[in-house]
Amino acid sequence: MTSRTGRRVGPATIERRRVKITAEIATLGLPLPGSLVERSTRCGNTGCRCHGDPPQLHGPYLTWTRKVDNKTITRTLDPAQAERLRPLLDNSRRLRELVSEFEALALRQVENDPAQPDP
Ligand SMILES: [Zn+2]
Repeated sequence: MTSRTGRRVGPATIERRRVKITAEIATLGLPLPGSLVERSTRCGNTGCRCHGDPPQLHGPYLTWTRKVDNKTITRTLDPAQAERLRPLLDNSRRLRELVSEFEALALRQVENDPAQPDP
């Protein structure tokens, strides 16, 4: 059985990767949800240059955005705050990557099982 990429992925390879992924997850620090995004904004003062033609927006500002109950929550950060949150947000991104790889391994295992339908 070969994977969709055409490379043979046997049970031993799947198990080796599974062990590697779980080991890396075990070393991860806390994963903070969301991401750092640079944003330029308009203020409420219609006479301001940010409402001009062409507009000169304020910023860019670093923001932390995340989804809470399907709504995007945005917090503006000063540089020190951003530097402290960055590693936690990096943990979160890495965790999502590892979970995706983990799920891909499960798909390979199902592909290798002749008793299962093609996933
Ligand atoms: Zn303005």
